[in-house]
Amino acid sequence: MRIYAIALTALFVSTAAPAQEVALSFDDGPHPVYTRTLLTMARVAGVKITLCMVGQNVEKYPDIVRQALADGHELCNHSWSHKKLRPANVAWEIEKTDEAFRRAVGTVPGILRAPGGNTHYVGKCYKGRPFINWQVDTKDWLHRNTARIVKIVTSNGAGIILMHDIRLTTVMAFPAIVLALKAQGVSFVTVSQIAGNSCGTLAQAPK
Ligand SMILES: [Zn+2]
Repeated sequence: MRIYAIALTALFVSTAAPAQEVALSFDDGPHPVYTRTLLTMARVAGVKITLCMVGQNVEKYPDIVRQALADGHELCNHSWSHKKLRPANVAWEIEKTDEAFRRAVGTVPGILRAPGGNTHYVGKCYKGRPFINWQVDTKDWLHRNTARIVKIVTSNGAGIILMHDIRLTTVMAFPAIVLALKAQGVSFVTVSQIAGNSCGTLAQAPK
């Protein structure tokens, strides 16, 4: 009986184990061509992604921001000008971007990402919202190699993945990434679903 019990326990554990969660995040857009293409592919694939947008681009392409939100993706404030955040510029960089989001979609993102992920001078939170980094850095902007991006994402397990939707080579990698991760049984979530918010108790994005 004991052996059966162990076998049953093993079976229960293996089937009850949660599938790995991956949050695909794309920074520095929206880009007028590549981000639209990415949104179309994400819609077809039925996959939710997270877009860390630069305020200047939010201002230029508000229709892409509206589309991303309407499609159910998570929006993220990635500063106005993509300069290193310091105490002297953080309010301007974040809040000017919030204003652009407000004009585009009537709300602001519940999460932030510092340029370069560098929160050294400003801390991990800004007025109740978290700066969220990543577990896997594809360095897609550096090598710009689609096959390499696919390999890094699909062989590095779970968590928040960093990519950039202003690169054609990255957007081209999206279909292969999704197919491979789906075959691995991965579930696609947004960045805040993995990271949560340790900066406050915001139930939803502030208006
Ligand atoms: Zn960036």
